[in-house]
Formats: sequence, C-alpha cells, structure tokens
Amino acid sequence: MAKFKDGSMKRYSRSSHPNLPVIAGGVPLFDSLLPYARHAVDEDDIQALIETLRSPFLTQGPHVDEFEKALSHQCQTPFAVAVNNGTSALHAAYLAAGISPGDEVITTPFTFAATANAVLYCGAVPVFVDIDPETWTIDPIDIAAKITSKTKAVVSVDFGGLPCHYEEIRALCRQHNITLIADACHSLGAEYKGTPVGTLADITVLSFHPAKHITTGEGGAILTSSPKLAHKLKLLRHHGIEKGTRPEEPWFHEMRELGNNWRITDFQCTLGMRQLKKLDAWVNRRRNIAKRYSEAFRHLPVSIQQSPPHALSSYHLFVISLDLSQFKTDRRGVFVALQRERLGVQVHYIPVHLHPFYRQRFGFQVGAFPVAEALYESVISLPLFPGMTDNGVESVILATERVIRYYQK
Ligand SMILES: *Cc1c(COP(=O)(O)O)cnc(C)c1O
Repeated sequence: MAKFKDGSMKRYSRSSHPNLPVIAGGVPLFDSLLPYARHAVDEDDIQALIETLRSPFLTQGPHVDEFEKALSHQCQTPFAVAVNNGTSALHAAYLAAGISPGDEVITTPFTFAATANAVLYCGAVPVFVDIDPETWTIDPIDIAAKITSKTKAVVSVDFGGLPCHYEEIRALCRQHNITLIADACHSLGAEYKGTPVGTLADITVLSFHPAKHITTGEGGAILTSSPKLAHKLKLLRHHGIEKGTRPEEPWFHEMRELGNNWRITDFQCTLGMRQLKKLDAWVNRRRNIAKRYSEAFRHLPVSIQQSPPHALSSYHLFVISLDLSQFKTDRRGVFVALQRERLGVQVHYIPVHLHPFYRQRFGFQVGAFPVAEALYESVISLPLFPGMTDNGVESVILATERVIRYYQK
C-alpha cells in the first residue's frame, strides 16, 4: 500500500468500506501511531548544536543571552530570563512576585498540575476557580468572588494556546493590587487585541518541552517588563547569588535570596534560537490545520473552544468536546476507538483538584468545579503539530468522523 511521508496511507486503496472504523473491521488510515504532538529538529539545528558543543561553553554561555534577547524581541517584552524547564520558570516567577507562606494564589484547575504545584513549592495555597464554559479558560467573575486579603497573585492559563480574558482579569488585579502571572506554556505566538502573549501579564511563563511550540529539549523562560523582577529572576536562577558587588574584592559574591540551580545550558539555547526563527511559520501552520479541523467537525456532535473577542490562539492543542447526550458510548469508547485508528489521542486535563494528592491535602470533592469537571469528561485532544502533511490532516478528519458517526445515536 502506498505510504505518505508521515506514515499515513493512501485512502481507499483497499476494497474495505472507507467509512468503517477500525473497531468495526475497517482498515487503519495510518501505518503507525500519529502522536498528538511532535517536535521538529532539522539537520541545520544539529550542525548548530555541534558548533556550540565544540565551544568553551556548555552551561551559561553567550547563547543564553542571545536566546533571551531573541525571545524578548519575539514577544515584544523588555526582559526574558531562560531557565531549565517550565516548572522552574513558574516557581521562579512566583518567588519573584513575592509569593510566600500563607499567601493565596488564584488559578484554574483545568491545567497541568505544575501550575498549582509551584504555588505549593512557595508554601502558599492554590485557590481554584472554575472555567468559562465557552473559552475553557479561568472565569473572571469567579476570580472576583475568590479574592481575599491574602490573595497575592492570579495565575491564568491560556489553555490550548488561546489567550484568556486578559482585559477583565488585568482590571481585577489592578483594582486589588494583585500580581497577574500568565502561565503561557501553551500560548507562545498567540495574540490578544493585537498584542503578542508576553506583555499581557506582569509576568509570563513559557515552556520549551518538545510538545510545546518550540523546544530546547527541556527548558522554560520568564518574560517581564520590570527590570527589578528580571534582575531578581536572574538571581533566583543561580542560587540567589549576586556577583560583582564589591569591586575591591573580585572574588566576592553574596547570596541574597533562597534561589536554586535553574540554569539552562548554552547548547539548549542554541537550539532554542533556531527554533524561535521558525515559530511564526509553525504557528501559521497550526492555525491552518485547526481551521480545517473546525470546518470538518462543524456537522458532528462535538464542540470546540470559543475565542474571547480579539483573541488569536496559537493552537498548542486541538481539543474536541463530545456532546455525550448524542453518543451511544462514553468518552472512553470514542477515545479507545480513535487509538485503534492509530491516532495518538490524549486527554487535557484531569482537573488538578481531583488528583489524589490534592484531594488528600485539601479535601477536594467531585463537584467542586463543575464546569472543569464536565469538560474533562468529554474532551479528547487530536494530533496537531506543524509537521503534519495535508494528507495526514485529512486522514485524521476521516478517522475521527467515522468513529463519531459510528457511535452517534
Ligand atoms: C508544559 C506545561 C508546564 C510545565 O512545563 P515543563 O517545561 O514541562 O516543566 C506548566 N504549565 C502548563 C500549562 C504546561 O502545559
């Protein structure tokens, strides 16, 4: 059977009925699993990495600075501080914002656990609020209801790459003198009212894990327009140690904060710089694929994330939410059938408060955040990455359609 570059096969090339899903005896459209995300590292990237590996710098070298400058240019933010992963970036951002024991930090349960975990690393308490059922991002009205005298920060998450309700949330934070931190690990390259993600909050956090828009293997960064915060973040990245404070004692350095070793290596930043050059083209490709998916699924009993006014997603994920009342099975049934189609489907996310650790620590029960919980029960993330071929995209659509039609009431 003829194969395309991404492993998908020519459609209808066997006699089997093309509309039959694999679980009902149909033929898979892919000869191997198509992952939900896949990074791209090309030969030129590898050559650039080799050059850096031959240089005198393995850890903090000139490429760290260059990568930070490129990031701040890309995101139109005065300062960028690169660190060893997105979780460290969150932790450093929270410490720089002064989050400390006894403080409350308002965030969404519909995120990766790291968003809330880093609040606990600071000894503070995460206070969850439910999501907007349309945009799937933190609900500004619920934030307002949960602000207390202990609230130190709001951490918003641009779920799937879609900027949250920044205008409303920013106004609330300003009114109550609270720091707004954007967990933008999904939304590098996204825009809100013509402004790129990076300057929409007081502090913005990025991840360069291979599933995200650009990768450094592991890596992350913190963006801010405050020189004071940027300085503090650089201290925190290196144990809270400041150097060069006594010119008469050239060896002198002093530890001023309890930081950590959150350094990223020079070769990771070499890769990051090369990846960043491709970001715009990759985000465009993601938007085109998402547009095609949206059109194709319009007539199916599924819904997708809705944008708030003037928000432009960079589509880290393409998530469908099944209208379960119209199915003869539950989400598990559809999920397993899509896996049998060789689609590397995933579920984003199990609401953070439902993880055993959070239930035990804070006594959370099912029903605490009904919008996030109901959404969790119905969502499936489909494959989406810039390297997908048009044929791959069409095959994902065909496979998804035939599974959904098969299970539709
Ligand atoms: C990926 C991610 C993180 C953590 O980033 P790492 O680089 O994997 O540590 C945090 N928050 C969200 C929303 C993420 O998607």
